[in-house]
Amino acid sequence: MILRKIILAVLVGVLVLSTGCSKEPAVSESSSESSSNQIIITPTEPSESSESEQEPSSEPESSSSESESSSEEESGSSESRAETSSEPEEPAEKDYGTLILVNPWNYIPEDYVPELEKVQGKYNMDIKAAESARNLVAAAKEAGFNMQLCSAYRTVEKSAQLYANKVNQYIGYGYSEADAKVEAAKWVAPPGTSEHHTGLAMDLVSSDYWSYYSDLEHDYEKFDSFKWMYEHCAEFGFILRYPKDKQDITGITYEPWHYRYVGVEAATYIMENGLCLEEYLEIIGK
Ligand SMILES: [Zn+2]
Repeated sequence: MILRKIILAVLVGVLVLSTGCSKEPAVSESSSESSSNQIIITPTEPSESSESEQEPSSEPESSSSESESSSEEESGSSESRAETSSEPEEPAEKDYGTLILVNPWNYIPEDYVPELEKVQGKYNMDIKAAESARNLVAAAKEAGFNMQLCSAYRTVEKSAQLYANKVNQYIGYGYSEADAKVEAAKWVAPPGTSEHHTGLAMDLVSSDYWSYYSDLEHDYEKFDSFKWMYEHCAEFGFILRYPKDKQDITGITYEPWHYRYVGVEAATYIMENGLCLEEYLEIIGK
């Protein structure tokens, strides 16, 4: 008798354990199947996109929200939906639109191939942005500012070279290699994470700035040409991509010379509301 009670108690215990933490009268339903089903069903949640492992960034929130838009096909097709409201699924299209997000947590897609066009001198941009860039530079000239590009489309290889140079510079200052990489990444995006890979970004300052400085510095913001660009860039579909007060979100230090093409509608909203691209994409749910 006692033995039976013990066995019964053990069986009940096993049943209770197998139903996990469900608070329903699960035991009385007797179905060990349904309880095990519940356990199987629950974990089939999202958690597949492992893109955003990259750097131990200090931005847990933004990296998780950005990892959503890093699923490449989605962002591409939803953009074309928004822009042209055309057929939802195009076979093997590689048009990622003008809102593609490339930042320290979102690498340029491997199959991203911009169609390039000259903007100024040796500098190329994607055809979606090139004409607007030329128009912006022309309008600035009319306003009295001679804007000079110093970077536009950049290959991943070129970025690798620039990044390595910057790392070496910091090592030369006495930084450890690990620290040098962290510091360098604040100035030069590591290969694959530079927005310049998209062909939608350009660095430009006025020629009077170049005659005083040989490098891009934060105090470019003091120049009238910067003020003009800041006020008028959105009219041509461009945004100041790395604002001073958004460094934690963009992962990039303030760059008063770096402009990114996103189209007039998005640019107007972003500049009027003082946002960065990451915030805008979150607002529109991309
Ligand atoms: Zn730049």
